[in-house]
Amino acid sequence: AAICMTKQSTLNQKILAAVQHATIGPGALHEPVLGDAERRHADACIQSGWVSYAGSYVTQFENELAKITGAKHVIAMTSGTAALHVCLMMADAGPGDEVLVPAFTFVASANAIAHAGACPHFIDIDTKTLGVDANRLATYLERVCKRQDGAAVNRTTGREIKALVCVHTFGHAADMTALENVCADFGITLIEDAAESLGTYIEDRHTGTFGQTAALSFNGNKIVTTGGGGAVMTDDDAIAATIRHLTTTAKQTHKWEFIHDMVGYNYRMPAINAALGVAQLEQFETFLKRKRALANAYAETFAHVPGVKFVQERSGTTANYWLNTLILDSADIKIRDAVLTTLNDAGYGSRPAWRPMHLLAPFADAPRDNLSVSEDLYRRVINIPSGIGVCPPC
Ligand SMILES: *Cc1c(COP(=O)(O)O)cnc(C)c1O
Repeated sequence: AAICMTKQSTLNQKILAAVQHATIGPGALHEPVLGDAERRHADACIQSGWVSYAGSYVTQFENELAKITGAKHVIAMTSGTAALHVCLMMADAGPGDEVLVPAFTFVASANAIAHAGACPHFIDIDTKTLGVDANRLATYLERVCKRQDGAAVNRTTGREIKALVCVHTFGHAADMTALENVCADFGITLIEDAAESLGTYIEDRHTGTFGQTAALSFNGNKIVTTGGGGAVMTDDDAIAATIRHLTTTAKQTHKWEFIHDMVGYNYRMPAINAALGVAQLEQFETFLKRKRALANAYAETFAHVPGVKFVQERSGTTANYWLNTLILDSADIKIRDAVLTTLNDAGYGSRPAWRPMHLLAPFADAPRDNLSVSEDLYRRVINIPSGIGVCPPC
């Protein structure tokens, strides 16, 4: 036991030393950087008197996001969760339907499916991409689904599997070509949860431009923040028009009358938030460069630490390195927690991966595949400081 303890504390100390070496000092996991640019644009927004969704900052923010991502339409929302809810509605996923989603994700991915009235159906990820394992998904669907009029129906529950919400985890791209093929084969609509992947590419194509729709998030901890917010991306003109209508209370254009032609939502991002987003995007290139410098420093220092692997971008992809990620060799959760204690006690904000969705009370009864990789990585993954404030100069 004494030897074990020594080994463990050595690993803790080596990981702490590597984090200290790569960063410029202690810091939170991912703090927003807000300063003069944000103050200037927020002021201009207030001066204009247009702080609600009708303000011109919303259009400006949407246009700049479209330029960065190459998406034809970007529609800013109040949150990433609201954006995902809208994506699911556009896929016609609702009561009586199932939606595939990785168990290894932030709870919002599964919550949005429940908000749409559908049932999440959990699938596993692979260690290479940290995203949905397309091969296993294809094998699994072949076994549990029957094909009916071009749709996939769960043999056990009798419910149609309407959509797949894939996730670009921690800013690493999922294997979109393989996932597109599986979805096309089974008649399942592909939705991308790109909440963590603004600035992440597959070859030259931005994540979030592969699915019918995709959701971005601008929550306080994301790479670009508006305080809180999100956006839907799509190349489909009709879907974009429906989304704009549906998310502004489904109000028809009229000189003065309030005529709403369906049950709408109040989901559009206010201009005061978009003003912060415009300010953040002015610095986005710099954010990406500095985060890459930090990731490179981590990759170098962790190459010399046995017992742990630093996750790097896959070849053919460019990661935004939103949250830098370690994978411990050991699946002993006590070792993970000891490392977390050492790092956090020293002021280096670090967190475990999310508890897999099927292990959370609201989703305990949801249908699912074998989730052994999600369960294993939950015990082994540690996210280490990743904010601009801890990045070395580049
Ligand atoms: C942040 C996040 C969301 C939701 O974003 P909110 O803006 O907080 O609603 C959804 N999915 C993933 C994977 C996220 O990380």
